[in-house]
Order: sequence, then C-alpha cells, then structure tokens
Amino acid sequence: MRGLDGKVAIVTGGARGMGRAIAERLIEEGVRVVVADLRDEEATKVTASLGGRALPHHLDVTDPGGWAVTVTAAVEEWGRLDILVNNAGICLRTPLADDDPTTSASAYAQVVAVNQTGPFLGIQAVVPAMSRSGGGSIVNISSMDGFVGVPGISAYISSKFAMRGLTKVAALELAPHRIRVNSVHPGYIDTPMLSEAGLDAASLDRCAQQIPLGRVGSVSDIAAAVAFLASDDSAYCSGTELLVDGALLA
Ligand code: NAD
Repeated sequence: MRGLDGKVAIVTGGARGMGRAIAERLIEEGVRVVVADLRDEEATKVTASLGGRALPHHLDVTDPGGWAVTVTAAVEEWGRLDILVNNAGICLRTPLADDDPTTSASAYAQVVAVNQTGPFLGIQAVVPAMSRSGGGSIVNISSMDGFVGVPGISAYISSKFAMRGLTKVAALELAPHRIRVNSVHPGYIDTPMLSEAGLDAASLDRCAQQIPLGRVGSVSDIAAAVAFLASDDSAYCSGTELLVDGALLA
C-alpha cells in the first residue's frame, strides 16, 4: 500500500490476536513497529519472530506516564512516529441486574479505563511526535458492538460506542495537524479473546451460519483494513467507520 514504507507505528495489544496480525502486516509493508502490550513475554516472542523492524515495549494503556515512555521509545529508536493503532481491549461481564453491583461497577470501570480512556490517552500522547513527523494516521479498533447492544456486557458495548465519538472529535481536532483518525469495526474474529469468552470451535461454526459471507473473520481481514487506513491509499478518509464483519450488520 502507498506511503507505508519507512513509517513508524505503535500497535497496542500487539502481543497476540488482532494486534499481532496488525503488527505483522504493517512490517510486511515496510513499517517499523513498537509492539506495546502488558504481556512482556509474548511481545518479546512476537518481535523476535519479526526481526529488527519490531520493538517490544511494556505498556498499560491506562497509564499516562507509560504512554509518554512508549512514544519516547519509538522516537529514540527510529526518529519519528507516524501511525498509532489503538487495538488493546478487554471484555468483562457487567450485567445491569447483577446480584453484586459492586463487582459489576468495578468491572465497568476497568473496561472503560482500557477500552475508552486508554485510546484517549494514546491520542493525546502521540500528537506532538506525529506533528513533528509531518502528520500521521490513527486507527481505533472499535467493534460491530459499537453499533448494537449485547446483553451482559454493558461496559464493553458503551466503550465501543464511545470510541466512535472519540474518533469523530479527534478527526476534527487533528486535521490541522495533518493527522487522520478512523475506526475499524470488526465482527466475529477468531482470536484468544473469543476463546477465553467461551466461544469454542462449535460455537464459532454456529456464528458462521449467521454471517452472510459464511465465515468468521480472520485476524488478517482486520490487519488489511488497518493497513489501508494507515496508508496513503486512504489519504482523504478521516472520521470514517469501517465495518469488517462479513455483512453481519448489513
Ligand atoms: P485479545 O484478547 O486476543 O488481545 C488483546 C491484547 O490486548 C492482549 O495482548 C492483551 O494483553 C492486550 N491488553 C489488554 N489490556 C491491556 C492494557 N491495559 N494495556 C496494554 N495492552 C493490553 O483480543 P483481540 O480479539 O485480538 O481484540 C483486539 C481488539 O479488537 C480489542 O479492542 C477488541 O475489543 C476488538 N474486537 C475483537 C473482536 C473479536 O471478535 N475478537 C471483535 C470486535 C472487536
């Protein structure tokens, strides 16, 4: 894709799942990538397999100080910063009619901190370095769950709706800095997040039967969408919402 070769990116949650595939795809396109994650061991393994174009970096996206260190690491290593992929996310049960409202409220706060405040902190942290590099592209990984409700996961759904609002405001505020901001909305994608939520192969097969394109998505489907939005091929897209869901919400 145009304009990616030689660029520098930070991918949060890059140690596994979609984040890992995004990092791998960007590297194929000539980008150097900071793989920023809580999972140090997995991030180190991923970057070792990617060679000198990837740097593992410990980041908790809820920590403003951690963001400052991550941006500095990217710039010190490679001299610039062009792309941020806000991919890290968690999903916890937060039922509205829970027997134990305390547990639910603390889970709600945790999900909002990672999925909603994390991307806000990331955007704030990268703007100065991206501006100095002449502009950039920020891709926020929301979800098809940013468009519809799902019972039992109110915090996750709210955070993914919120990411759409954040993307719109950031697209407007950062246009003068030549920074584009877009969101990607995956449908069902086969990653550890789904298996840890209890969706085994049989459940994924049942999901696939409901999906008009007849299959669950792969991490490479999402990586391709992110690479497009990070590249100059999407130079006139900002504030855009790209659904990658096999037509499930069509
Ligand atoms: P995953 O659980 O497989 O990977 C998420 C990664 O984020 C992990 O490596 C984890 O360590 C990291 N992470 C979690 N909290 C963090 C924090 N505080 N700081 C830094 N890193 C942190 O998940 P995935 O399925 O690859 O999901 C990636 C993104 O895509 C998430 O935002 C998720 O909500 C979204 N999404 C997933 C699906 C799906 O079907 N898998 C669908 C729609 C949207």
